[in-house]
Amino acid sequence: MLNPKLIKHGLPKVSAPELDTLIQGVRIGSIADISRAITLIESSNPRDVALRRKLIDTLHTSKNQSYRIGITGVPGVGKSTFIESFGLQAIDAGYKVAVLSIDPSSTKSGGSILGDKTRMNELSRHPMAYVRPTASGTHLGGVARSTRESIIICEAAGYDLIIVETVGVGQSEIEVLQLTDFFLLLMLAGAGDELQGIKRGIMESADAILITKADGNNVSQAKRAAQEYKKALHLMPPHEGNWIPKVATVSSMENTGMEIPLSWLKQYRNQTLENNYWWDKRAQQALYWFDEHVKSGFIHKLLIQEDLKKIHQQVRSSVKTLDKDPFIAVDEILMSFEIKLKS
Ligand code: GDP
Repeated sequence: MLNPKLIKHGLPKVSAPELDTLIQGVRIGSIADISRAITLIESSNPRDVALRRKLIDTLHTSKNQSYRIGITGVPGVGKSTFIESFGLQAIDAGYKVAVLSIDPSSTKSGGSILGDKTRMNELSRHPMAYVRPTASGTHLGGVARSTRESIIICEAAGYDLIIVETVGVGQSEIEVLQLTDFFLLLMLAGAGDELQGIKRGIMESADAILITKADGNNVSQAKRAAQEYKKALHLMPPHEGNWIPKVATVSSMENTGMEIPLSWLKQYRNQTLENNYWWDKRAQQALYWFDEHVKSGFIHKLLIQEDLKKIHQQVRSSVKTLDKDPFIAVDEILMSFEIKLKS
């Protein structure tokens, strides 16, 4: 396998004439080209912007048949061990598997809670798998945009099970919900929701919960926890698409229970294709990102203009000192913008 560090930082940059070759390479599933394409979309270099746009616009398809799964859970819950075991089983079931990790800690501090490249050793070496360590996104649109575009690249390369992994302790799991078809939450038995730092909203959004490490002395405790989560989830209304969230136990170490999430995936796709929710959800997600990007994109364009930037800074500090009402403050920026437009 290519060294992921090299893939991320060391491969030569793509020039305009090379883009077509790169696109062809992605389409035939060349790992080096997939990695170069992802490096390109993660780039914040203004010179790469046009290439990146052309790449994604070319590779984007309206109704991609792949399955996008979000997997989250606190550090130590067993995400990478699970993904390794589950991914290999999914390959046996006929899928081509890509794993993309979002690690909010790595963009901020350079460190990583998701750990390093020793993760998912067997899976990352498998010819039917592609593991991309950590998405970064310092450009406008951030990590969510990089991840969405990485998904498009992997799908164009023929991967049909895309796993987006994140740590359940920040905001990134909210983004993962908007990036994937099925959201799987991994939980430990006996640690308590609060201890695990899982926000209630996240548990409610999960399409399925798996209690990890159900082996050795932990089996009965894991089963008990599964029962409790089942009860808790049954008190909640079914998800959109009439899906009733599922709960089970799994041991990645002993490789037991992996067929359960695979069967849920099948069931979820069949059910939501039948009641039309599958494509509705994809459309809702596309609109979510459109609306988000309209907001952040226009704000960005507006506030890089020196005069407006100045007014923004001034009124913002008056809001901070509680001297000005926030709505009035925004009105003032908008008025300045209108005057600027007319002049
Ligand atoms: P992550 O931080 O969520 O990616 O968690 P890891 O996959 O790195 O696992 C954290 C620790 O739990 C490691 O020491 C693993 O060996 C251990 N672990 C993971 N899965 C299992 C399991 O199914 N059973 C047991 N007993 N330990 C596990």
